[in-house]
Amino acid sequence: MAKSYDVVIIGAGAGGLATAASLLRRNRDLSVCVVDPAEMHYYQPGWTLVGAGVFSQQATVRRTESLIPRGVEWIKQAATGFAPDANRVTLADGSEISYQILVVAAGLKLDWAAIKGLEAALGHGGVTSNYSYQTAPYTWKLVQEMRQGRALFTQPAMPIKCAGAPQKALYLSCDAWARAGVLRNIEVEFMLNTPALFGVAYYVPSLMQYIERYGVKLNFLTNLTEIDGAARKAVFVQKTADGTETTIERNYDFIHVCPPQSAPDVVKQSSLANAAGWLEVDEATLQHKRYANVFGVGDVAGTSNAKTAAAVRKQAPVAAENILGQLAGGGPRFAYDGYGSCPLTVERGKIVLAEFGYGGKILPTFPVDGRVPRRLAWWLKTLVMPELYWNWMLKGREPLARPHIPVAAKS
Ligand code: FAD
Repeated sequence: MAKSYDVVIIGAGAGGLATAASLLRRNRDLSVCVVDPAEMHYYQPGWTLVGAGVFSQQATVRRTESLIPRGVEWIKQAATGFAPDANRVTLADGSEISYQILVVAAGLKLDWAAIKGLEAALGHGGVTSNYSYQTAPYTWKLVQEMRQGRALFTQPAMPIKCAGAPQKALYLSCDAWARAGVLRNIEVEFMLNTPALFGVAYYVPSLMQYIERYGVKLNFLTNLTEIDGAARKAVFVQKTADGTETTIERNYDFIHVCPPQSAPDVVKQSSLANAAGWLEVDEATLQHKRYANVFGVGDVAGTSNAKTAAAVRKQAPVAAENILGQLAGGGPRFAYDGYGSCPLTVERGKIVLAEFGYGGKILPTFPVDGRVPRRLAWWLKTLVMPELYWNWMLKGREPLARPHIPVAAKS
C-alpha cells in the first residue's frame, strides 16, 4: 500500500525546503515528506559571484541532508509521475506515495541540449555559463585570461530564472576587463532573444548607462541556435521588426551562454501543467486552478513573477498558510503579490536593485531608489542574502516575508 503523508513536497531546492520549514513552524504535527534525488543543494544566486571571482564555488553548495528541516522525511528519489485524481505520486523506483496536499517545487529545466553543439563545447575552448555550478568558476578563469578579441553574452527566450543573470555576467566581466585596462581591446556583444534590455522599463535607463560605459553592442531578438566549439563560432537567428528571420554567425574568443529554460518534463507531461507546460496555479494563492489540494512554489509555477529565490522567500509562507487553510477546510487565506528581486551587479561593488511584483509594480523593501547603483545593495547581495537564504528562508524564519494580503482583499 502507498505510504501516505499530510503534505508531499516535490523538490528540495529553495522552494521545497522553505515551504516545508514554513509549514512545520506553523504546525509541528503535520507529516511532511520532501522528494528529491539530489545529494547537493545549491545557492544558485551565488553563481554570478563565482563567475566574477567574488565567491568560491564551495560557498554555494551544501549537502541536502544537512538542510532537511527536523521532522521532515526525505525520500531520495525523483518523482516520475503525478496522478492528482488519485492523490498519488509515482517515484523513480516505481513505488507510489499518496497525500492530502501536494506541493510541486521542482524548479525548472535548463535545456542545454536545445542549442546544437553546446553540451560538447561547454566548459572549455572559451564556452562558459554561470547557470551551472560546474562552469561558473570557468567564467572567472576566462575573464582573467582574456586580453583581446570578441566576447559574446547570450540570453534566451523568457521565462528564465533570474532574468538579470545573463547581463550580470556581462557587467561584471566588462568591469574586470576595464580594471585590467583591456576592455578597449575587447569587442563585447550581448545577444538577447527579448526586445528590451530588461523586462521592467523603470530600470532600463540605469542599465543603459553601463551598456554605454562598457561599449557593449546590443542585438535584440537574437537567439543562439548553435555553437561550433572547434571553430569557435556561434550561430544565431535574428528577427527583424517585420518578423523576417536571418541567420548570423560570430566567431568568439569568449562566450557566456544562458541556456533555454522550460518546465521540468515530469510536470510538462502531467495533467497539472498549463498549455506552456508550467504548473497551472493561481497567481495570488499559488493553489492549482483545477486541483484544490495541489500548490506550486518557485520556478515551476506558471505565474508571471520573476523566477527568483527572492520570489520563493515571499511565496513559501503564503503557500504554507494556504495549505493549512485548505487542510482546515476553509481554503486559501493569503495572497502573493508577485514580488521578485533581481540585484543587477552593474560593477564590482555596486548594484541596481530591481524589486517588483505582478505587472511590473515597483516594490522596494527599503525607501531608496533601486535604480541608483549602490554599494549598500552590493553588501546586501554578498553578505546579507546568503545568510538570509541559508539561515532564515530555508529554516522557515520569515523576516520581511510574513503573509499580509488577505485573499478576499485581492479578488
Ligand atoms: P531549485 O532551487 O532549482 O530547486 C529545484 C529542486 O527540484 C532541485 O533540488 C531538483 O533536484 C528538484 N527536482 C527537479 N525535478 C525533480 C523531480 N522530478 N523529483 C524530485 N525533485 C526534483 N534568485 C534571486 O533571488 N536572486 C538572484 O540574484 C539570483 N541569481 C541567480 C543567478 C543564477 C546564475 C541562477 C541559475 C539563478 C539565480 N536566481 C536568483 C534564481 C534562483 O536560484 C531560483 O529562482 C531558485 O533557486 C528557485 O527555487 P526552486 O525551488 O523553484 O528551484
